[in-house]
Amino acid sequence: MHSKPRIAIIGAGPAGLMLARLLTLKSIPVTIYEREESSKARSQGGSLDLHEASGQYALKEAELFDQFLEYARYEDDEMAIADKTGVPLFNFRGDKSKRGTRPEIDRETLRRILLASIPADCIKWDHWLGRVRPDGTLEFHCGKTEGPFDLVVGADGGRSRVRPLLTDVTPFYSGVAGFEFKISNAEARFPHITKFIGRGSYFCFSGGNAIQAQRLGDKSLRVYAWSRKPETFAIDLHARYPSTADLKVVMLKNYVDWAPALQDWIKAADEDRRPWTLYMLPVDFRWEHRPGFTLVGDAAHLITPFSGEGVNAAFLDAVELTKSIVAHDGMRSRENLDAAVAAYESALFLRMHGVMRETADNLRLLFSTDAPLSFVAKMQSNMNGENNNKQAQVNGNGNWNGH
Ligand SMILES: Cc1cc2nc3c(=O)[nH]c(=O)nc-3n(C[C@H](O)[C@H](O)[C@H](O)COP(=O)(O)OP(=O)(O)OC[C@H]3O[C@@H](n4cnc5c(N)ncnc54)[C@H](O)[C@@H]3O)c2cc1C
Repeated sequence: MHSKPRIAIIGAGPAGLMLARLLTLKSIPVTIYEREESSKARSQGGSLDLHEASGQYALKEAELFDQFLEYARYEDDEMAIADKTGVPLFNFRGDKSKRGTRPEIDRETLRRILLASIPADCIKWDHWLGRVRPDGTLEFHCGKTEGPFDLVVGADGGRSRVRPLLTDVTPFYSGVAGFEFKISNAEARFPHITKFIGRGSYFCFSGGNAIQAQRLGDKSLRVYAWSRKPETFAIDLHARYPSTADLKVVMLKNYVDWAPALQDWIKAADEDRRPWTLYMLPVDFRWEHRPGFTLVGDAAHLITPFSGEGVNAAFLDAVELTKSIVAHDGMRSRENLDAAVAAYESALFLRMHGVMRETADNLRLLFSTDAPLSFVAKMQSNMNGENNNKQAQVNGNGNWNGH
């Protein structure tokens, strides 16, 4: 036993980086082990909206809110939901006159801010965890071992290698898979598409298929094409059609009776594409506390993207775990650290079960036969109930934002 407990974080995603930042601010040393070779190893995907009580709150706790504000796109806090005709059934616009709505930020930028906020030597890149031993020793695929650690935090996403120490439960296929595309320099190259989409995001659902487009900060668009299909749908197509031009022809068959303006989003996409097969954990997922191990982010509560809560929840986990460690004087002894982790976990399950249930419900409604009508009705009723400072318009004439 070392004089002070030693903490390892597996994974330098949003959860792991935020946790490292917060613990470091409290002078609690940590080491992150990340399987990617460097911070530039892969593109980080699309844009995120950060919610006031979770994502933005965490950035404030991490003393990174001002940096976030430099890049936050309040003007993109807009969303339209439509069916295959493209005519919006639901419009949402954040209150531009107030800060405190849900500004967008590119994942790439957010990651850069977080990476710059922690000491460079606290991350060990190119450390792909294969297994954790019951004593907290980490075994990496390269054959190296590190530890033992007094606390191993699994921030290693949906396929966590830490989770098996806590439970036999594994994520299951959500029923939805698809592709992520990018339309680079969209404003200059495809002004008719960016004009159609307006600011923010435009999500269309019909008959078990979906097309979603969202603005990124670099004037490009991120496009997702989702379908309710067998589990291997996206990975099979990805392997069978190395040329994206060929892949698009096959994908467009899912959208033959969709508005040509929506099909254009796929037609205009760049050559790069990424297949996605969406998995989730059961909505009542929990584990029995086991000293020495815990989970944050997707490792703890993998959900589909259809609530926009993933990163927000991951950030909040990092805040709550840090607060619990500080409140229990967790660095004094292994026992204190254990009590802190147990308290964090009890609160986590209470907090996340509602979010997991809500997200599963959204998934069901958005890919049901009447989509997106039932989902729109739910959004309407939520918005009416919230009585907050947002403005939602449900219209039948499509007369919104230039359409
Ligand atoms: C298509 C899509 C769109 C989404 N859109 C949104 C959105 O708009 N808003 C939102 O809030 N959420 C969104 N999400 C969810 C969001 O991406 C996740 O909730 C979030 O990334 C979780 O962060 P994390 O740090 O827990 O896990 P991850 O982001 O998965 O990070 C895990 C990290 O661990 C590393 N790692 C994994 N295994 C190992 C290992 N064995 N050894 C070492 N390192 C390892 C990985 O390389 C990675 O860096 C979306 C998800 C998808 C799939």
